[in-house]
Amino acid sequence: MCGIVGYIGKQDAYPILIKGLHRLEYRGYDSAGVALISADGKLNVYKTKGKVAELERFAADKDTSGTIGIAHTRWATHGEPNDVNAHPHYSQNGRIALIHNGIIENYGVLKQMLIGKGYTFRSETDTEVLVQFIDYLRTTNNCSLFEAVQAALNQVIGAYAIAVLDRDNKDEIIAARKSSPLVIGIGDGEYFLASDATPIAEYVKDVVYLNDGEIAIINRNKPFRIVNLNNIESKIDICKLEMNISELEKGGYPHFMLKEIFEQPRTITDCIRGRINVEGTDVILSGILDHKERFLNARRIICVACGTSWHAGMIGEYLFEDLCGIEVKVEYASEFRYRNPVVHPDDIVLAISQSGETADTLAAVELAKSRGAFIYGICNVVGSSIARATDSGTYIHVGPEIGVASTKAFTGQVTVLVMMAMMIARLKGRIDTERYESVLRGLLAMPEKIKEILSQADRIKEVAAIYTYARNFLYLGRGCNYPTAMEGALKLKEISYIHAEGCPAAEMKHGTIALIDHEMPTVVIATNGSIYEKTISNIQEIKARGGKVIAVVTEGDTIVSHMADHCIWVPETDEYLTPLLSSIPLQLFAYYIAVNKGRDVDQPRNLAKSVTVE
Ligand code: GLU
Repeated sequence: MCGIVGYIGKQDAYPILIKGLHRLEYRGYDSAGVALISADGKLNVYKTKGKVAELERFAADKDTSGTIGIAHTRWATHGEPNDVNAHPHYSQNGRIALIHNGIIENYGVLKQMLIGKGYTFRSETDTEVLVQFIDYLRTTNNCSLFEAVQAALNQVIGAYAIAVLDRDNKDEIIAARKSSPLVIGIGDGEYFLASDATPIAEYVKDVVYLNDGEIAIINRNKPFRIVNLNNIESKIDICKLEMNISELEKGGYPHFMLKEIFEQPRTITDCIRGRINVEGTDVILSGILDHKERFLNARRIICVACGTSWHAGMIGEYLFEDLCGIEVKVEYASEFRYRNPVVHPDDIVLAISQSGETADTLAAVELAKSRGAFIYGICNVVGSSIARATDSGTYIHVGPEIGVASTKAFTGQVTVLVMMAMMIARLKGRIDTERYESVLRGLLAMPEKIKEILSQADRIKEVAAIYTYARNFLYLGRGCNYPTAMEGALKLKEISYIHAEGCPAAEMKHGTIALIDHEMPTVVIATNGSIYEKTISNIQEIKARGGKVIAVVTEGDTIVSHMADHCIWVPETDEYLTPLLSSIPLQLFAYYIAVNKGRDVDQPRNLAKSVTVE
């Protein structure tokens, strides 16, 4: 996690860096800091615990001049979140400053070596070790900053995106990456660098995504260069950014999360655009079409993902097994990568990640690749590391998701999974035209149906107000709404800090039911479908034990609505599309409870959005 941003050019760097940090704050908000070189050659470093706004207050009366600078917003891995551990870190002699996203795994050995050479350390971070190490190599080898960075990175084990300044050279920033993202914006006599394109988009459209093992030499007076760790010059591959700045603003909503929940009718439209024809008679995903044989002959599909994306993968399991007849495994990427999983060359590995930078998922992709599997990505961020590491894939195209709790990315992922399942089922001749077209038309109708649910936001807010007291929640669902229930519980945990558990409704009686009493409410997804009746029995079991039930039911439901304490209605749709509808009230429910509890909804404690550390 951590957000890094840098600027070199003709403008004042400080306002650009601060604005960039605000855009990247979703990546971490333990501390923030900036390093600038002023026109008279001073290296000014300001850093403080807390959010970017704290940094702004802290630096308000300081010298923030300079047209070159780097800045950082931290999600701590090594050392508590305090002023001293905040980035930028700088060398003992005050000459080199560095910001870092990632983890230097062999920092302990390097630190001991440097202490032996007389270096002293101010912070507990792995990052400070790297900056001192660079300084040590630069002085002992009497070389340039670039050469010192290159030599240091050749000895470093771990993950990093870094940007480095030398006080004595106010014309140059050295940046590098391995396993943490870094994008460089190229303007007219100016350069921007950042962990993702959001701080860059309003200034330039030409960007270069640095690859693992590459070092960028960004000098305002010399041509832009990229050289790898083996000193081989890389080709500069310029991409065009397509990002709408208004997507990066709250647009009148109190929180990004609420804005993103309300965006879902549009984001689903964007996700299916050009993929399902207007008549709803066909779906084409070029990522599948180009590798048709792979999908027709797939032995298994293995979904690797984390968090919300893992829940989307679980929904995929129901779809692919039932509709396509392909065996599916859904794996936590973090577990998959550290065991010795069986992966066959005719397996398809589906890597699901909003940011496309999730470190564990990326590592799982590399492992599966090394075993010959075909890798398919479902990502949101175009050009992200996972998107580039896969053989093929489908972008969810929901636009930047800034709220830390994922909402529109989840429904985008599920939408892509449904389209994939429909297309594969069709190619395999396993689905009749009637069902195929009815699901596709159901997807086309989804934006209107979601709008209908959103129009009940006030009612969901009222229900949330009634249950804000609760300290524990149970979420139940069956079939593909079991993962949806888990996702609902995760939303509540993430932003309200209330303990919540998602459980298959029928599994409850094997243990979890012991928790039920009048103080522990249960949210039940009881929409129409093949297991509706079974879910009704589960609701009865809870009611019989004095539990309160909040049920998500299909419009027109007359049975559950008489049993539940509170109901939230969603429109009728195909059973496999219900997660797209039932997840929306659960997002709103969690949101309003968190607001009632005064939580920091967009930036909940201890979390960060793009988990680029293991
Ligand atoms: N390891 C560095 C620190 O703790 C950077 C952390 C990160 O990128 O998340 O300060």
